[in-house]
Order: sequence, then structure tokens, then C-alpha cells
Amino acid sequence: MTTPATAADLSSHLIPECLGRPGDDPIFALNAIAVRRQRAGEDILNATLGALMEDDGQLAILPSVRAALGAVPPERAASYAPIAGEPPYLDAVIHDLYGDGPLAAQSVAVATPGGTGAVHHAVVNFLDQGEALLVPDYHWGPYRIVAHHTLRGTDTFRMFDEQGRFDRSAFAEAVEAQSGRQARLLIVLNTPCNNPTGYTLDDGDWKAVSNALRAASQRVPVTLLIDLAYSRFCAPDSPRWQDHVEDLAGDVLPLIAWTASKTFAQYGARIGALVASCPDDDERARIANALSYSCRGTWSNCNHHGMLAVTELLADPELKARSDSERDRLRALLDARVAAFNELAEAAGLRYPRYKGGFFVTVFTPDAELTVKTMQARGVFVVPLNGGVRVALCGTPVSAVPRLVEALVEGVAAAQG
Ligand code: PLP
Repeated sequence: MTTPATAADLSSHLIPECLGRPGDDPIFALNAIAVRRQRAGEDILNATLGALMEDDGQLAILPSVRAALGAVPPERAASYAPIAGEPPYLDAVIHDLYGDGPLAAQSVAVATPGGTGAVHHAVVNFLDQGEALLVPDYHWGPYRIVAHHTLRGTDTFRMFDEQGRFDRSAFAEAVEAQSGRQARLLIVLNTPCNNPTGYTLDDGDWKAVSNALRAASQRVPVTLLIDLAYSRFCAPDSPRWQDHVEDLAGDVLPLIAWTASKTFAQYGARIGALVASCPDDDERARIANALSYSCRGTWSNCNHHGMLAVTELLADPELKARSDSERDRLRALLDARVAAFNELAEAAGLRYPRYKGGFFVTVFTPDAELTVKTMQARGVFVVPLNGGVRVALCGTPVSAVPRLVEALVEGVAAAQG
């Protein structure tokens, strides 16, 4: 039976739930203000957006990606991709993650428009309507939007303790609490090089995560989505997350959100994948079918041109070596900024989590809005969060790091009163 329409319902063609939705992503909105002031002639330092820029302000790209895109035969590029994605592409992504390790043979994947699409499919297939995703309190905002948009909720756990370390107890408590009230769990961890904090789980953190998830898996099905968006920009001594996932698989369902956006500096191509690893053949086949069904029910199929190019970049030894070395140059560019930031920020007494690589870091402040406002008065743009500001080193030339740190020091001091 339908509910009779009220006068309020009839004031718009939109259904009531959609009436008050914000049209702008807050980060893109901040970026727009920064760009407007820059165009008006101000000297602006824009550390808002998550795209890697050269030190001269141009978007950093990989020439090998251009070459791979150019080599795709036009008739293939123009044709529809299979709904779940090109099988060689999916194999190449699985191999990129797990090589010839044991999980490769137990993995299925579907193509998605970037990591965002992977998050969407994880949420709609592994969490029921009315249930809540579990994410750290410092998280990428769209997780919450995807959950809300698909009638799921979001629970958070405290990511850092007073010493700025990963709060293992808060994670374990949140997992335990959710396992007592939900029929299944879906946890999202964005590591290495978390957005927005820059933090990478170390082996001790991973052990604590595994213990908590394994304990919960005795009560309910537990799925762990690892969002690998920035993994190609992590410090060389970062722990191998694959070892921990191998250890967990069987008890917990590991999902990986893979994306070419940052890996190949190809944000606009919208190429990604969701990879699920499951030892049981029947369950794995069911998962593959469910994910493929979700593709048909959302974007139908992904960008064929980009998918074919990325397949070559991953699978052709010569192209892979070329793109790896081009990416190494970009990583060195970013690493120089990270090193400059750490040296100056530590000396200035700024508080932030361990930061060894990646596009962003979060600097803690008691009043993020006031910090941001103070910094904007100096022409420096960062993103306010609850308890901190996100700083995009990916968009900050190394020569501008001293100005950035000075503005942060002033902004945090203003917030401290
Ligand atoms: N996950 C995180 C943490 C991100 O920061 C982003 C992009 O900013 C994504 C996923 C998804 O990006 P895309 O959909 O372009 O792959």
C-alpha cells in the first residue's frame, strides 16, 4: 500500500529524501574557491585536491599510459566491454595484487569505475540495508555517502590514541560491538597511506586487526575491504599487507578496492576493480555472479578503452617496466615533499600521525574551521576535518612546503587560542 502524498511531497518532483542533498563535494567546493582567488591574481597555495601535481603545478601523468591508450585499436576501444570486465584485465589486476601467491587462484574480480565503484559494490553486496559499515573516524568522505545512498549506515571507531598511534583497542571494541548487533560486518581500511591521515598500518596493527576480525568471525560473517588507492606511493619499508590477508582469508572474506586513478595517474579514465578472495568454489562463484549483477544494475560496463590500455600496462613486460620507472619518478617527487614536511613540521611541533609517504597528511588541531580560516587568510587552502586538517602534499611543490608549514603553525596556534 502506498502512503498518500502530502502537500510537502508535491512541492518537488524529487522524492522527499533527496530534497536537501548537497550538490557539491565539500573538497571540490573548497578547491573552486582557491582556484577563483588564484585566477583573481592572488598567490594561492592549494593543498586541497587528491591529484599528484608536478612542482610546476601541472597534473603529473605517465607518458607510458598515453602510449598504451594510443595503441588500443579504435574498434576495440569503441566496443562494449564484457559486463564484469575483460578477463585479461581482471587476471592482470589479480596478479598485480597477489602475484602467483595462494590467493591469486582463489580470487574473482569485476571491473568498476575506479575505487569508488569497488566501494559501492562492496557495500551493496556484503552489508544489508539498515546495517552499518565500520570505518575509522578519519576516513574518505564518500564511504559515508555510498552507504547512505544505498540505505546503509556508517559506524566509526577512534583511529588514533593520545600518542597518535593506531588505536588497536578502539578497533577491537568497535568490531566486537558491531558483531553483537549486526548479522554481518563490513569493515573498510584504507591502507597503506590512508586518506586523509597518511597513516600506514604496521605489522603490530595488522595483528591486532586480524585478531579482532577473527574473533568476530566466530559469531558472524566478516568482510574486510582494503582500499588500496594510494598503495603505489607508500614507503618501501611498508609491511606487506598481502601476508596479513593470506593469514586471514578463510576466516574473513578479503576484498580489495583496486584503482588505476592514482596507480597510473589516470583519474579521469575511471578504471578500477573489486577483487574478492574465497577458498570455497561455490561461494566464490556466487560472489562473482552477485558482483556481475551489480555491474549490470549500475554502470552496465566500464570504460573499454581504458581497461584495454591498463591491461597492457599491467601485463606487457616492457610497458610495465616503463610505467613503473615513470611512477618511481613521481614517487620521488612526492617523497621529497614528505621529507621536507616531516623535517619542518616536527621542528615546529605540529602534531600528526606517522607519515612516511602518500598523498596526504592530517595535522591535528582543536578547531579545524578556525585553522582553515586562518590559513586561507594567508592564501593557503587545506581541508577541515573533525579534529584536524587534511593537507595534500600531492599538490604542494617542494619549494612551497615551508610556506605550508608556517601557515599550519599559525592556523593551529589560532585554534589553540
Ligand atoms: N579511496 C580513497 C581513500 C580515495 O581517496 C579515493 C579517491 O580520492 C578513492 C578511493 C577512489 O578514487 P577513484 O574512484 O578515482 O579510484
